Amino acid sequence: MCFVEVALASGDRTRRASPAAIGSGTLMAVAPGKGIIVHRYADGRVRGYVALNKSEEWMRSVGSGDPSAGLGRVVGEFDGWSPLLTAFVTESDAEPWLRPIHALPVGISWERMPGVTLVGDAALLMSPFAGEGANLALYDGADLAGELVGQSDVEAALTAYEARLFPRGGDAAGRSARNLERFFGPEAPRSVVALFDRS
Ligand SMILES: Cc1cc2nc3c(=O)[nH]c(=O)nc-3n(C[C@H](O)[C@H](O)[C@H](O)COP(=O)(O)OP(=O)(O)OC[C@H]3O[C@@H](n4cnc5c(N)ncnc54)[C@H](O)[C@@H]3O)c2cc1C
Repeated sequence: MCFVEVALASGDRTRRASPAAIGSGTLMAVAPGKGIIVHRYADGRVRGYVALNKSEEWMRSVGSGDPSAGLGRVVGEFDGWSPLLTAFVTESDAEPWLRPIHALPVGISWERMPGVTLVGDAALLMSPFAGEGANLALYDGADLAGELVGQSDVEAALTAYEARLFPRGGDAAGRSARNLERFFGPEAPRSVVALFDRS
């Protein structure tokens, strides 16, 4: 899976119809293996991502060279979609910046290695669909610092930290993997509608 950043600099101040479709929050248009997800910021700017399940070779072909040609290749994947949606790509002010989505297996852990530990993405990389990667990185750092300050035995501190790290990260990684499937798996968009219907 790959995310391509899109941005409309002044959504409210132009004649563009697409930003109006967002309202004041987030617009999500998803299908198996692809989607357009955009947010309106408080100052009226519109930013978001085009998501595509493509090979690394395809991603490289979009990311290198002429930005408008890159955006053309991206929008070509949305043939038949409403121009109101594809306008987020064709009218994007941003270069097609690629964000490949990688994830470690859910539930991964490792043997304690003396003197070493990991925090944040380095420890438990996951797709961004739990929306918690940055929170976890901060939390991990604070948790580890608390242990190191709280006791003089470094190995005991690292062991105590990792005892919480794995369940905490594993829980978020599981939610993220399930959401990735909900948003871009074979049942999309019905699986997304069902998610919001439940809440
Ligand atoms: C498209 C996308 C959307 C996301 N949305 C959200 C969201 O809505 N909410 C959320 O909470 N999280 C989100 N995340 C996840 C979040 O960005 C990460 O989980 C978070 O940035 C992890 O922080 P980190 O400090 O562990 O790693 P990073 O932010 O990757 O920081 C690591 C730093 O180390 C540097 N570095 C790497 N190697 C070296 C080296 N050898 N020497 C020196 N420096 C080095 C890197 O340049 C980088 O600056 C999203 C991620 C993506 C890709």
